[in-house]
Amino acid sequence: MKKIAVFPGSFDPITTGHLELVNRALPLFDEIVVAIGQNSKKNYLFSLEQRLEWLEEVFENEPKVKVAHFKGLTVKFCKEIKANFMLRGLRNASDFDYEKTISQLNATIGDGLETVFLISSPLYSHVSSTIVREIIRAGGDASQFLPIEIKL
Ligand code: ADP
Repeated sequence: MKKIAVFPGSFDPITTGHLELVNRALPLFDEIVVAIGQNSKKNYLFSLEQRLEWLEEVFENEPKVKVAHFKGLTVKFCKEIKANFMLRGLRNASDFDYEKTISQLNATIGDGLETVFLISSPLYSHVSSTIVREIIRAGGDASQFLPIEIKL
């Protein structure tokens, strides 16, 4: 059976932390689908089109990575594309608390869908899209936290 993992997130914008996580997960799966989940309650800084374009650029030369977007439940999307795993990153204890509940729920409503967690490497555990957005909103330079393909 082909091992397909969905890496869901907002990617508003994609950071070096996300990129490092995907690169480390590549040997574990046959395919990784980096998927932007659209949540109508969230206010995004960048448009869906812009975020997708960046993902396409960043993973252009990685044949095992596909880029997608979806609305609604992540487990439903996983089922639709026949993904048997979900990939998430853990930076700290608050990530763990949140992710633990979500992954247990997803396993229940997603017919045993397994979430695979990778602990962020120390070099990237402080990197988050939230911090990047704050720097950008304040007119600062966030380029060191962004993949080289992203020019702001
Ligand atoms: P969400 O809106 O679902 O939190 P994000 O785009 O912020 O989406 O993050 C998607 C996933 O990437 C989450 O599992 C998050 O823990 C992980 N992630 C984000 N930044 C890092 C990082 N610096 N190192 C490891 N994982 C990360």
